[in-house]
Amino acid sequence: MVDLKGQYNDIKDVVNASIEHVIENTSFINGPKVHEFQKNLENYLGVKHVIPCANGTDALQIAMMGLGLKPGDEVITADFTFAATVEVIALLNLTPVLVDVNPDDFNINIEAIENAITPKTKAIVPVHLFGQCANMDAILKIAKAHNLFVIEDNAQAIGANYKFKDGTKAKAGTIGDVGATSFFPSKNLGAYGDGGAIFTNNDALAHTIRGIVNHGMYERYHHDVVGVNSRLDSIQAAVLDAKLPKLNAYNTARQHAAKKYNDAFKTIEAIITPKLANGCGETICDTCDCHVFHQYTLRIKGADRDALVKHLNANGIPCGVYYPIPLHKQKAYVDDRYNEADFPVTNTLVQEVISLPMHTELDDAQIDFITTTIINFING
Ligand SMILES: *Cc1c(COP(=O)(O)O)cnc(C)c1O
Repeated sequence: MVDLKGQYNDIKDVVNASIEHVIENTSFINGPKVHEFQKNLENYLGVKHVIPCANGTDALQIAMMGLGLKPGDEVITADFTFAATVEVIALLNLTPVLVDVNPDDFNINIEAIENAITPKTKAIVPVHLFGQCANMDAILKIAKAHNLFVIEDNAQAIGANYKFKDGTKAKAGTIGDVGATSFFPSKNLGAYGDGGAIFTNNDALAHTIRGIVNHGMYERYHHDVVGVNSRLDSIQAAVLDAKLPKLNAYNTARQHAAKKYNDAFKTIEAIITPKLANGCGETICDTCDCHVFHQYTLRIKGADRDALVKHLNANGIPCGVYYPIPLHKQKAYVDDRYNEADFPVTNTLVQEVISLPMHTELDDAQIDFITTTIINFING
C-alpha cells in the first residue's frame, strides 16, 4: 500500500544527516530539532501554534482536554472513520455521538450533525477523511449557532487546502478551534516511528495545551492541571523536518496517481471513483490542493467487493478496506441511542469501499497493472 523504502532512498542523505545531528548533540527529548520542526510546520500551515506530541491519538485527546470538555459532554463525530477519534472521546468520559457520512466524499454529513445536537452537545469533530476536508463552512456555521467547539481530526489531510465559499483558503487542521494530526509512518507526512501534533490559532489554548503535554506543568515542578506525558522525540522531529519541504511534492505525486486511476476507471460503471467536495469540481482539482489522497478509495457497485480484494491479493496487489465495520457497530461503542436507520450511508460504504495502493513512489506502469487487473476482474 505504501513504499516507504523507495521514498527513503530518495531523501536518505538529508534524513541521515538530520538524525545524526540529533545523536551527536544527544538532545533526544525536547531538543532544538523539535522546536525547528514546530516553527517550520507553523510557517507551512500558516497557523500560530503547533504543539508537537507523541502520536495522533494523543493529539486528539489533548485537544479535548485543552478545551476543558467535561464528563457527560456530548461530542459529535463521524461513524465512518478510524476508531482513534471515538476512542479518545470515550476515554475522557465524554459521550460520543456518532453520525452518518456523505456517500460522495465520505465525510461527516451536515444534516446528521444538526439532527444530533442536544443541549449537552459541546463539540464537533470532523475527520478530514482520506485527504479532503469536511464541509467546514457549514460546520463552522452550526458551531457558531450552537456555541460548540470544532476539533479537526486532520490525521489524513495534512497539506490539503480548504476553499471557503468566499474563495479564501486555509490549510486543513487550522480552521476549527483546534486541529490534531498524526505522523504515523504511512500518513502523508510520516515519521520513522510515532508522532503527532496539535494546531491552533488561539494563544490561550496553545498555552494550556503546552502544559498538558508536559504533565500539566507551566512552571517546573508546579503541576497546575492533570496532564499527560506526550512528546515528539527529537529523532522523529529530525526526520519530519527533513521531509516537510517535500510534502507538497509528495501530495502532488499522490494527486497524479489519483488522476491516472480516475482516468482508467472513467467508463467502468461498477466503479465509483472518489469525488471532490466543497465546490472543487468533479475531477482532480488543478487549482487547489483540496484533496491530498491519503487513501484512494473506490466504491464497487454491482460487483463483488470481497472477491475483488481476494483477486487483487492473488495478483500481488495490496489493497485495503477502510473501514470494514461502522463505529456504531463496534463492540466498544455500541449504544442504545443509535438507530440503524440513521446510518444508511456508512452501512452501505463498509460493503462497497476498497482502497488501492497510494503513495509517492507509484509509477505509471504499476498503476496500469493495477487498473488493468481490476477492470479485467469487473468485466469477467
Ligand atoms: C491515523 C489516525 C489517527 C491516529 O493517529 P496515531 O498517530 O496512529 O495515533 C486518528 N485519526 C485518524 C482519522 C487517523 O487516520
